Amino acid sequence: DQSVCAPLSVLGRDVTVPLVTGGEVTYAALDYAASAPALQRVWDDVAAYAPYYGSVHRGAGYLSQLSTDLFENARRTVAAFLDCREDDQLVFTRSTTDSLNLLAAALPADCQVFVFETEHHASLLPWRDARVTYLDAPRTPAAAVATLERALADRDPHGPALVCVTGASNVTGEIWPVRELAAAAHAHGARIVLDAAQLAPHHPVSVQDLDVDWVAFSGHKLYAPFGSGVLAGRADWLREADPYLAGGGASRKVTRRTDGGVDVEWHETAARHEAGSPNVIGAYAIASACKALSEAGFDTLVARERHLIDTVRAGLAEVPEVRVLSLFGDDAPRVGVLSFVVDGWNSSHFAAALSAEYGIGVRDGLFCAHPLVRTLLGSDPHTQGECGAPEAAPGEKSLNAIRVSFGAGTPDEHVERFVDAVR
Ligand code: PMP
Repeated sequence: DQSVCAPLSVLGRDVTVPLVTGGEVTYAALDYAASAPALQRVWDDVAAYAPYYGSVHRGAGYLSQLSTDLFENARRTVAAFLDCREDDQLVFTRSTTDSLNLLAAALPADCQVFVFETEHHASLLPWRDARVTYLDAPRTPAAAVATLERALADRDPHGPALVCVTGASNVTGEIWPVRELAAAAHAHGARIVLDAAQLAPHHPVSVQDLDVDWVAFSGHKLYAPFGSGVLAGRADWLREADPYLAGGGASRKVTRRTDGGVDVEWHETAARHEAGSPNVIGAYAIASACKALSEAGFDTLVARERHLIDTVRAGLAEVPEVRVLSLFGDDAPRVGVLSFVVDGWNSSHFAAALSAEYGIGVRDGLFCAHPLVRTLLGSDPHTQGECGAPEAAPGEKSLNAIRVSFGAGTPDEHVERFVDAVR
């Protein structure tokens, strides 16, 4: 029912693209997991404000005050969207990658980090300067919790520790048992950060209900494509850490010392990690998207997406050459992200054909989650394969995969055309 989606209508639905077979067709954007289209509402809000923007926290004039208010209101709106605790801090960043690197830079000394090998590289790699334990891919949600419990039981119980986990996989779309993992982390005195890049656009995320210490996500996957992201959660580690970037805005007082050097007092609020002139349009756009999603209601969004997921899964199940990639099996709850391989096909050629012959935009490759995709494809997660488009001879195992993803505003016709094209 398209009318359910009206409050969540997206831009770019009517882009016409040429086909190699002749003629043209409206573009079917089925790569939401990479970047989702902007909501019309976000675009309208930004267009209404854009002519009037001014510097944030840096000007005495009216437009500067307006922009400062919008920026700080955006912070409150996003904190409410995430159901943050009263004393949490919310830092506007550039993206999920930026948010997780910021947290990695704010880890206390001697912090141990626990992360599954199945993570996106943005949540797998920022911790390399810490004492990291990489956990093997679990094959059920219960195994994920048991694996983490075991790893934490062996840790030094006195030092600080952090678990980093993704809410929904950018490869399989499967939803991870975040609440249970958070309980396990806390039972062992560790903290947990949730990479909600793929979860937040599709599913409600409550910091308090999930009991996670931090959450990170990107605006451009949440229908707000203006170069902004969020890190929200416990204030203490952020307050005690050196600023992520040194500069204006992060510093409260800077003085020359008698020995010729410079002393700095840094802010203890989120501004500590927001040096430089902030991306007020990006923050405003995220807040606008959060409001639109909340007003439309996640029940509506989830029900509509379930219908699209069922259509895709049922369609692909009819094609014997297709193998859908899954860590947790058919019954796992999932968001509208699904990867697969087709026997005898190079995944990159397949994705290129979907584009050139059907006007469908999907993604091929290892999706910045190399160890996970190699595990799912049955190749050695430790060594084999490069990112890119290795050739698979007919009948050979693919070394990369095809990903289809969708969400708010995706019409039935787009997923139906995709299923027909695969057939
Ligand atoms: N985590 C996950 C699960 C993702 O899917 C992505 C984006 N593909 C990221 C983190 C990184 O997001 P960004 O590129 O916006 O920093």
